[in-house]
Amino acid sequence: MPQKTTPGTLYIVSTPIGNLEDITLRAIRILKEVTTIAAEDTRQTGKLLAHFQINTPMTSYHDFNKEGKTPVFIQRMQKGDSFALVSDAGTPSISDPGYYLIRTALSKDIPVCPIPGPVALIAALSVSGLPTDRFVFEGFLARKKGKRDKQLEALKDEPRTLIFYESPYRIISLLNAILTLLGDREIVIARELTKLHEETIKGSVSQVLNDLKTKKFRGEASIVVEGYRPKKQSQT
Ligand code: SAM
Repeated sequence: MPQKTTPGTLYIVSTPIGNLEDITLRAIRILKEVTTIAAEDTRQTGKLLAHFQINTPMTSYHDFNKEGKTPVFIQRMQKGDSFALVSDAGTPSISDPGYYLIRTALSKDIPVCPIPGPVALIAALSVSGLPTDRFVFEGFLARKKGKRDKQLEALKDEPRTLIFYESPYRIISLLNAILTLLGDREIVIARELTKLHEETIKGSVSQVLNDLKTKKFRGEASIVVEGYRPKKQSQT
């Protein structure tokens, strides 16, 4: 009778969002132990691996090759190989590639194991000073203004703290849309977290827009916005 092979594991490994010290001991061990590391960008991950003297073979895995690569990885895991999925920064599958591979692995009864660590939205929320007990992560809104504005409008009565990712090139446009569609709420721009030029810019949306008027916005940023607060009734 043919022997049944135990499938390998798919590890979802969080990596630093800037500061290389923000990697867990377990992440380093798993990256050393797996058969293959599937990386969003092998050049970027190559720097991380070199820093920690990890010599595990790498292969690329991103949105444009996921349909070709997924069945290959699955077949290898079914034969016992283990894979670590990493993205350029933070936690894979959080506004990054991973979802398709994870779903497919689960559907084939391949164990999927998290190796938790940095994720920009949580780092931003944790220093925002805005309520952290309940929050909504919206990731990147649509690039097209009309669609983006509809997404924002749908959030206008949302009482939980809102968190967005945005590219530095579109951030001013997003802040203007928030001001128009959600009002002049308290907001925190968490910029370049864990990096040399880490900064949190806090204030009302209009104050922040005013502060940013004179500077060119650079770097990676997560945006944390106060949830909807019904206006206090004026006392008579
Ligand atoms: N998977 C990542 C995570 O776990 O946070 C997110 C990847 S997503 C492609 C990149 C976005 O995350 C950036 O555009 C920015 O909004 C946010 N981000 C990443 N690094 C950051 C940092 N150091 N400081 C603030 N925001 C960051």
